[in-house]
Amino acid sequence: MENFFEEWLKRKDKAVKENKKFLKKISKSNEKKLNPIVDEIHNLVFEKIDCLSCANCCKSIPPIVNETDAKRVSKFLGMKITAFKDEYLRMDEDGDMVMNLSPCPFLDMDDNKCQIYEVRPKACREYPHTDNYQFVKNKKLHAINAQYCPAVFYILEKLKEDYPKI
Ligand code: SF4
Ligand code: SF4
Repeated sequence: MENFFEEWLKRKDKAVKENKKFLKKISKSNEKKLNPIVDEIHNLVFEKIDCLSCANCCKSIPPIVNETDAKRVSKFLGMKITAFKDEYLRMDEDGDMVMNLSPCPFLDMDDNKCQIYEVRPKACREYPHTDNYQFVKNKKLHAINAQYCPAVFYILEKLKEDYPKI
């Protein structure tokens, strides 16, 4: 696990350009066959990576919190939705509501656990968007996400190795 992280840290910045180029090559004709392939690679990579030893997404990317998320989380916390929004959310440059702090205010830094795990925002549940047939739909995100998420980095590495002519 440690080697995985060290290797990722060493290689991630140099890989951005190559990953962008590779992802750009995905054509409409191979989109359909690609999602199930990546789902399988996703499972293989996550067998080796323990998110509780990482939590880098929670530490560095403020997640989008939509209205449904805000209602659910505020109810869980026993707060009024307006008070929850005032205390925990802000509008980002794209006009989306996001957590107002990074690391996320709900991340327990001692054990990397999410304190609102059962009701966490949809964006957190779906991150890093590489399984459940989400890979192709989110192909523009993966090169940048590979800089924050070692799993995405290794998913792309395996994909490039197995399907260089994608
Ligand atoms: S950055 Fe990726 S590997 Fe790390 S905790 Fe988040 S999803 Fe898991
Ligand atoms: S809400 Fe939970 S899963 Fe989402 S960023 Fe915060 S700590 Fe991580």
